Amino acid sequence: MTSPLIELREVSRRYDDGPPALHEASLTVLPGEAVAILGPSGSGKSTLLNLLAGLDRPDTGTVTVDGVRVDQLGEAASALYRRARIGMVFQFFHLLDDLTVADNVALPARLAGLPRGEAARRAAELLQRLGIDRHARAHPGRLSGGQRQRVAVARALMNRPALLLADEPTGALDTAAGQDVSRLLTELNAEGQTVVLVTHDLALARSCTRRTIRIADGRITHDLPSRSVAPEAAR
Ligand code: ADP
Repeated sequence: MTSPLIELREVSRRYDDGPPALHEASLTVLPGEAVAILGPSGSGKSTLLNLLAGLDRPDTGTVTVDGVRVDQLGEAASALYRRARIGMVFQFFHLLDDLTVADNVALPARLAGLPRGEAARRAAELLQRLGIDRHARAHPGRLSGGQRQRVAVARALMNRPALLLADEPTGALDTAAGQDVSRLLTELNAEGQTVVLVTHDLALARSCTRRTIRIADGRITHDLPSRSVAPEAAR
């Protein structure tokens, strides 16, 4: 039997005196799956994502990713965990405009200690694979939103992550650029990349994942094939 890449067991997280942002959430994701986490604003999606990324700890329950007990990591270990095993893509790209596109993409490998030449070679390879190599020497500010998101995806793939986390990756893009990023995620998953996509966009979930987990008020309410999710689920 394949061991899960992600295993959440009865994970709860509450901020201050508020209601639980996540309540006894359990979830298993296998390597190679693409899963959408769908739910309205305030439902607990970011909380879940932060727990997977080791950016936050649950109050109770366990979070295991790629064999690592993420809920038990200290700050330094969690930074290493993210760098080595997680690629993250955000709505607003978070690229460094002082660096060229190639240097942005190479940065995670440089931070992980890869020699400059090797990091540059791998960055060039990724830029080519993602069809943005002609922009390698440009600064991100000169690119369109869709191109910037491609650069951000290249950066996220730099250290060959076990898990790609995408947080509303098309939220700041026009329709055509959004579809392009959606196709890119679909392709990466077809090549074997495990993807967790956090979104409130059902069309996006349907186009690039087969499985959709719906979350409402911090609880996982549905876990369904993406194509069978009803539109109300996103609200
Ligand atoms: P989503 O990503 O689906 O919009 P969140 O995970 O951000 O949802 O939020 C879930 C709940 O937790 C909301 O009620 C939100 O107000 C609360 N929350 C999230 N982050 C914090 C925080 N840092 N401090 C206090 N409350 C928070």
